[in-house]
Amino acid sequence: MQLSYWEKDTYFSNIDVLIIGSGIVGLNAALHLKTQQPKLKVVVLERGLLPTGASSKNAGFACFGSPSELLDDLSRHTEEEVFALVERRWKGLQRLRQNLGDATIDYHRWGGYELFEQSQEPLYEECLDRLPYLNRQLQQVTGEQEVFRQADHKISQFGFRNVAHLLESTAEGQIDTGKMILALTQKVQSLGVLVLNGLEVLELQEEDKGITAATAQGIAIHARAALVATNGFAQQLLPQVQVIPARAQVLITEPIPNLKLKGTFHFDHGYYYFRNIGNRILFGGGRNLDFKTEETTALGLTELVQHRLEQLLREVILPDTPFEVAHRWSGIMGVGTAKTTIVQPVSEHVFCAVRMGGMGVAIGSLVGEEGADLVLKAL
Ligand SMILES: Cc1cc2nc3c(=O)[nH]c(=O)nc-3n(C[C@H](O)[C@H](O)[C@H](O)COP(=O)(O)OP(=O)(O)OC[C@H]3O[C@@H](n4cnc5c(N)ncnc54)[C@H](O)[C@@H]3O)c2cc1C
Repeated sequence: MQLSYWEKDTYFSNIDVLIIGSGIVGLNAALHLKTQQPKLKVVVLERGLLPTGASSKNAGFACFGSPSELLDDLSRHTEEEVFALVERRWKGLQRLRQNLGDATIDYHRWGGYELFEQSQEPLYEECLDRLPYLNRQLQQVTGEQEVFRQADHKISQFGFRNVAHLLESTAEGQIDTGKMILALTQKVQSLGVLVLNGLEVLELQEEDKGITAATAQGIAIHARAALVATNGFAQQLLPQVQVIPARAQVLITEPIPNLKLKGTFHFDHGYYYFRNIGNRILFGGGRNLDFKTEETTALGLTELVQHRLEQLLREVILPDTPFEVAHRWSGIMGVGTAKTTIVQPVSEHVFCAVRMGGMGVAIGSLVGEEGADLVLKAL
């Protein structure tokens, strides 16, 4: 692409910090940089017309872990690690709400629920057994007394079939993902951050006094430092960083008259999740049906997953209610063998803030700030 003198001068000269990726992490990093040092020239590069990873495609659960998810985490991480992550999710959600405002992001604390089928009786019993322990731990994080509680009486109220038990998380909420990412973009733009779409970074080259980013559009962009916030796509730029792409498929129904469901719902160890959006249901998951195929950076849908989502809607979630699927889509997450984020220097002037797993709505605001703080120290 050939640039005019004006374009070069206005958009691409004297850049202090280049952020790659305009998802929740990249935009929060930009917000933090401008809040801390308003004079910095901060440019966010996004290869899509819109953010094209997960931040504008997710389910919008404002959650910090269901009982079985936390027990699963405790079997693979130390107690300290698990509740430190819960605390980051909790605090990250507070930060997201403070930054943008509950009305702007349509935040509602309508509670979350974990569903257990009859065949999961042992798992349910284990969760029930550990509920007092989990509640004690969560009280230290949230200040609330009984975050998790039994809610079997709501099974018939919600109209589920083949669901034997329900555990409620009283502190869980939901947001409107589209409103959130738009508000965040507008907020950073109002502070003077340039968000440039349609620019894909192919390579970052270290130099004496900063970095140069080579783009697929043929523009070489120099900056004093760069923060890579490309999450599921991180390995394309930073092969040394351990992030595995994980596609997640979703569908949404047409409006359903007199829909009884309100809140966020998880089941099968969190591999499936659904919520109401007004009187529609958003339903996603099923990555566990074929992990290998879903380990991809390519957006797309598969018959296997979509068929299973519809079947579960018909048989478990809306057994007595006719529904039609209005729309389907997918997004790309970044996961790893450990459930931890990676916020670290990669070289003298390059930093990364990646591997949000399925928790980016919750922790993305804090992780963006952490990435920005690393950059600030290096400037
Ligand atoms: C279907 C689905 C449901 C989810 N549900 C929830 C939920 O309910 N609650 C929750 O907490 N989390 C959820 N998540 C996870 C959450 O959305 C992510 O963790 C979070 O959005 C990650 O944000 P990010 O900024 O790190 O990455 P992203 O939002 O993926 O942003 C990275 C950006 O980098 C851009 N990019 C990549 N490579 C380049 C390049 N070379 N040059 C320029 N730009 C580039 C991409 O286009 C992308 O826009 C869900 C994810 C999906 C897919």
